[in-house]
Amino acid sequence: MMKTAKLARLYRVEDGKRFRLKDFDPADTAKLHSKRSARSALEEDIVRMSQLQDKLYAQDRWAVLLILQAMDAAGKDGAIKHVMSGVNPQGCQVYSFKTPSAEELDHDYLWRARRCLPERGKIGLFNRSYYEEVLVVRVHPQLLKNQRIPPPLVTKKIWQERFQDIRAFERYLHRNGTVVRKFFLHVSKEEQKRRFLERLEEPEKHWKFAAADIDERRSWNDYLEAYEDMIRRTATPHAPWYVIPADNKWFTRLILAAAIVDTLEGLHLAYPEVDSEKRKQLQAARSALLKEGS
Ligand code: ATP
Ligand code: MG
Repeated sequence: MMKTAKLARLYRVEDGKRFRLKDFDPADTAKLHSKRSARSALEEDIVRMSQLQDKLYAQDRWAVLLILQAMDAAGKDGAIKHVMSGVNPQGCQVYSFKTPSAEELDHDYLWRARRCLPERGKIGLFNRSYYEEVLVVRVHPQLLKNQRIPPPLVTKKIWQERFQDIRAFERYLHRNGTVVRKFFLHVSKEEQKRRFLERLEEPEKHWKFAAADIDERRSWNDYLEAYEDMIRRTATPHAPWYVIPADNKWFTRLILAAAIVDTLEGLHLAYPEVDSEKRKQLQAARSALLKEGS
């Protein structure tokens, strides 16, 4: 059996200080050669995840928040679909964060995310998140103007302040039993081009293509800088980033699933203990059912 937890830890960043994006290769597959070699490991992890999720739900103490960030076409949607395929839909909540609405812009930027935080016992998955506030908003500062923040509060320090507030927010979640794990699906510019062309060539993928995606591609380097700074400033032991190579979808899914399983394993989940009082109740219920006429 492949030790996928160990593999996933290769991509975990807990201390941003020495983090450099160029140390991470989007095409890396950790010497695994093919989808086939990863398939059974991924399948095992998906089964394991569903067992752990059942305990998470039964125990009803921890909440798990998984955050996915990536450039367009890095494979977030597909990864979510595959990796979460085994989990009970009742124990999982997925939210996609799009361009903020007028109502959302009328509040502080964490407002809409706070409303979607997972309950105890559940896994919450954010497809994009409040991290857009230091990514797309940083790359396109005019978006900041729409936010109606009082001008004296918008200074050159705003990004550092946002990092500080995000760190504080995640520490708060951690201290209250919400386990935060963040994933950057790291795709290369060449692979994005290939996937965009595929979307343009296949009618079934046309709906996925947005003209704006090409504009965003022109800001590629600005995005990479923003991602690097974001990870440097917000990777912590209690809310680490995973920088997952995303040029090979099968590898992305393998590592994402492995990291989630590793996280859940780390919680030492267990079904609630049944005390003697409860055991008596169960026994009585059993006898009553058996005594019933048919
Ligand atoms: P796909 O990758 O399948 O296209 P998507 O996640 O890109 O899915 P879209 O509806 O295409 O979904 O894009 C959502 C858009 O919303 C992104 O361009 C993202 O940058 C933008 N967005 C998300 N949060 C914010 C925010 N806080 N401020 C401004 N824009 C945001
Ligand atoms: Mg998009």
